[in-house]
Amino acid sequence: MDINKQIVEWFRYFHAHPEVSWKEYGTTNKIAEILDELGVGYRRFPDVTGLIAEIGEGEVVTAVRADIDALWQEVDDVMQANHSCGHDANISMVLGALLHLLEDPPKDKKIRFIFQPAEEKGNGSLAMIEKGALDGVGFLFGVHLRPKEELRDGYFAPSIHHGAGIYMEGKIKGMDAHGARPHQGKNSIDVLMAIHSYIRSIYLSPFESYSAKLTKLIAGGENLNIIPGNAEFAIDVRAQKNEVLEEIQKRLGEGIEGIEKVYGVKIDYAWTDHTPGAVVSAEAEDIIRKAIGSIAGERVLAQPVITSGSDDFHFYTIKHPEVKAAMMGVGADLSPGLHHPRMTFNISALSQAAKILAETLRRA
Ligand SMILES: [Zn+2]
Ligand SMILES: [Zn+2]
Repeated sequence: MDINKQIVEWFRYFHAHPEVSWKEYGTTNKIAEILDELGVGYRRFPDVTGLIAEIGEGEVVTAVRADIDALWQEVDDVMQANHSCGHDANISMVLGALLHLLEDPPKDKKIRFIFQPAEEKGNGSLAMIEKGALDGVGFLFGVHLRPKEELRDGYFAPSIHHGAGIYMEGKIKGMDAHGARPHQGKNSIDVLMAIHSYIRSIYLSPFESYSAKLTKLIAGGENLNIIPGNAEFAIDVRAQKNEVLEEIQKRLGEGIEGIEKVYGVKIDYAWTDHTPGAVVSAEAEDIIRKAIGSIAGERVLAQPVITSGSDDFHFYTIKHPEVKAAMMGVGADLSPGLHHPRMTFNISALSQAAKILAETLRRA
């Protein structure tokens, strides 16, 4: 079988059959079918999509993860599932690595293939962790295409340093009053302005990369003569490092508490949709670096990619700090950008990436 041709064929199949997070039924079935044909054992789950396959023998386990879901978005005026994050490519590269490894399966260790659902929901990795995906794992690798601004066509990066992100969703409970008698009310818009200027006064070291900003404000209604007591708001917080994100969260919590007192209102809030920043193992990164050098040559070895984007891959290391992990970045002239409805890239990059992945898994 021509492995490169097979990878492209698989890519075309998965690209033509996108499914959204937690509903990757056909995708899971197709991967299972491929594994059946290859005689590779795997586990499926009654309650979640995705599957975990394994080859080789031994005590040591090295794992690789491919996320399998697509996005739900408008393409040519029609809402539909669409593989605009390249998870169709991730599945094909990882299956391609499996084909390479099957030519001479490892005898000194097991290699585990985690086909993970729902990356775009930010919690598919947590489901796989619950299913024991990382039990016994020493090294974990991932792979993702990068936009062309981050990585040139034909180049490979030994790691991707995603940023961390979280949202605060809040409700202000003040007091309505007549516009003519503002002293009888507690105006939630004044409170929103106070929150806004407080956010602008959170200063951390200028050497750190971070941002916090209001992304939702709802106050007032039909009657322009009512001082609105209640309001809703949301804040989007990003930071390159997990500890910087935590510091901003702490400061925001303190600020909200202070504003409650000063304005005499109640502010209820909750933190939602946390995506952790990358915790990259230097050892795992070095294995990828050497694999890139030996398969593709030092010339196409790029620097680690630092990006404000995020990936739920990093929950694996947050929940299992003992696992040494890194994600390889693949440069494939990807444009206009990840999650763009008409995202395209150079498919020929997939076969080289699959070879490098196989070499990485052998070396780990
Ligand atoms: Zn995505
Ligand atoms: Zn993605």
